[in-house]
Amino acid sequence: MAKNSEVAIAAELLEVQRTLGWMDLVIGNITDAVYVTDHNERLVFVNQCFSDIVGVPRVFLLGQTVAEAFPTSLKYDPNNQFLPNLGTPNDTEGSDTNIYERVENEKLKIYKISCRFIPTIEQTVHIAKDITTEYEMSVMKNDFINIASHQLRTPMTAIMTYSHMLYQGYGGQLDADQKQLAERIVVSSERMISLINDILLISRLQNGEENLQNKDGSFKDVFNILESELESKLSEKKIKFKTSYPEGIEKVKCNKFLIHEILSNLLINGIQYTPSGGKLAMKAVTEEKKVKIIITDNGIGIPKEDIPNIFNQFTRADNAFKAFNEGTGLGLYVVKIIADLINAKIDCSSRLNKGTTFTVAFPL
Ligand code: ADP
Repeated sequence: MAKNSEVAIAAELLEVQRTLGWMDLVIGNITDAVYVTDHNERLVFVNQCFSDIVGVPRVFLLGQTVAEAFPTSLKYDPNNQFLPNLGTPNDTEGSDTNIYERVENEKLKIYKISCRFIPTIEQTVHIAKDITTEYEMSVMKNDFINIASHQLRTPMTAIMTYSHMLYQGYGGQLDADQKQLAERIVVSSERMISLINDILLISRLQNGEENLQNKDGSFKDVFNILESELESKLSEKKIKFKTSYPEGIEKVKCNKFLIHEILSNLLINGIQYTPSGGKLAMKAVTEEKKVKIIITDNGIGIPKEDIPNIFNQFTRADNAFKAFNEGTGLGLYVVKIIADLINAKIDCSSRLNKGTTFTVAFPL
């Protein structure tokens, strides 16, 4: 007769077997492809969905490398971000997500693949989700926005130009009421153009149409352009603008257009959200392999609870809305997209009614 302990062990083994069978059934039938690789990137487990996608029975796939069984190439993320590279077993964090493409039956398929390294077994679990439909929808949406914005920009530019002329009296002298109405058209049309330009830039960045590697100017070039562009806005509000640049900054090359986009948005906000007679400062510091730019104003500040959200699209704090109701809530969103694309780190600190500081660290 079997001893009690043997019966218990046998029952436990049965339970373990049942659990393993159940897990295999569940993971095997998940509708995303699940596969596990060893340190040589060889498959040690694949589920049914994976086998269906590659059209090879599960048993024949084990031992093959991922590159043989499921070749993919890295793809630009449709949600406008370059995601970090695929994790390797050496990754201490061990977890990663990327967007990949591959051709299946002559059709381009897009997969979002997440993987996590499990140090105890030295294996990596991957989950590949087919996002082809979402990707195609996103491309269609981007194309539509692009075309619509381009079509809107031409008539809007005409409205802005002619309303400016009207306001300045080119069509005859205006009385005070007429001038006020013309001014409203000017302000609204400028706002509309700036909104359209932001949308077009976001769309170009999302579609990977901007050359990020372009180093067509120096930081000093950008500072010079900004200083002359902002002159009239600064004098209109009698804001004192102080700058400080380190020696040799004229030799530090950068992507003039993108750095200008970031700094211009931050400085224009500094002017907009600082009452007349206030102060705005831009300081550049060179550190090892980076240029840090610090923009400080003594304006209305950002409520503490709003700071984590200000880089989201269409997000505006209540105090900003009261101070300047023409904002679009897109400027900082554009800033964040560009900063992420060029690996710049951006920080914001602010105190209500005291002022705001944005620090951007650009890698060299
Ligand atoms: P917009 O200025 O058009 O509203 P942004 O995306 O540029 O949009 O900014 C988002 C929000 O962040 C602003 O509405 C405002 O609440 C806050 N903000 C940004 N910069 C400043 C600043 N320098 N001072 C105070 N608030 C700011």
